[in-house]
Amino acid sequence: MDEPGLEEKMKTAVYYNNSDVRIEDQPKPEISTNEILVKMSSAGICGSDVLEWYRVKTAPRVLGHEITGIIEEVGANVSKYQKGQRVFVSHHVPCENCHYCKFGNETACKTLHTTNYHPGGFSEYIQVPEQNVKNGVFVLPDEISDNEGTLIEPLACTVRAQRIAGMQTGKSVLVIGSGVAGLLHVKLAKSNGASKVFATDINDFRLQKAKEFGADEAFNANDFTLEKLKQANNNLLADIVILCTAAESAVAQAVDSIEKGGTLMFFAVPDPDKKIEFPMSKFWRDSITLTTSYAGAPKDIAEAIELIKSKKVVVSDLITHELALEKAQEGFELVAKAQDSLKVILKA
Ligand SMILES: [Zn+2]
Ligand SMILES: [Zn+2]
Repeated sequence: MDEPGLEEKMKTAVYYNNSDVRIEDQPKPEISTNEILVKMSSAGICGSDVLEWYRVKTAPRVLGHEITGIIEEVGANVSKYQKGQRVFVSHHVPCENCHYCKFGNETACKTLHTTNYHPGGFSEYIQVPEQNVKNGVFVLPDEISDNEGTLIEPLACTVRAQRIAGMQTGKSVLVIGSGVAGLLHVKLAKSNGASKVFATDINDFRLQKAKEFGADEAFNANDFTLEKLKQANNNLLADIVILCTAAESAVAQAVDSIEKGGTLMFFAVPDPDKKIEFPMSKFWRDSITLTTSYAGAPKDIAEAIELIKSKKVVVSDLITHELALEKAQEGFELVAKAQDSLKVILKA
């Protein structure tokens, strides 16, 4: 029972580092007239959540940006949404009218980099600020379950990356690193009509999953060779190479594997203190493009929702673990170890 005069509490999982995630009470947020309050149902742990050098900088903090939930409360000025609706909420949303947004570079938008919901996804309740209400709340269709909805954000990121990489029917794709992001790229490349899809990893469980999810060939990165790639790809290297691991050795492998006219997409990047050398004259002569993709924008999220809804990209088989929010520590360990887990979901 709530005692009058005392603020209501809620449970959150607070990140200190990969092996220290604590369950702590925080005040249940009070929303303003332009905000909504969402009761979290499912929240996915992202590979980037266990990217320790990146995350400890802002710790202690409630992480989590792959969430679905139910609208619990709606501010007086919000007419677009109602209490009880099942939603996916985007944490970073662009302003849609700055210099960067105007040219489709929404993920470079200052608003996108500074928006977030409060206190984070690994929390019983989430306060959604005005900008996110305006541009980052998506009602879930009946076809998408709460758990499947946690893959909307990760899929949106891959949708954006393959668009930027110039993915077209008939192109061959090599995905380097077969974690959740890499496996989503495998599935999406198939759905986008790739002539062949190849994947690499050093973990047998992930290599097996890559094959199950449609890769024509899954190579152990430790004995991957260009000859093997060419043999499997009509004597060609890959038209699109998507780097999905921060491992430095993978960059060299990626660079070597691009066919003339091809594109190397940096979906993941090595640590900021690493300097990488590129054979620029070869790229120039062979018409090779290097490009990057960070996060996703509302149009990518809308596309991801359609892909999941229509089952053009099946995501349910990526979910390997479902844990109570209280077991967040265990969830983080599973993701950080990257052994036989893929998407790990916390439930409130
Ligand atoms: Zn993520
Ligand atoms: Zn903007």
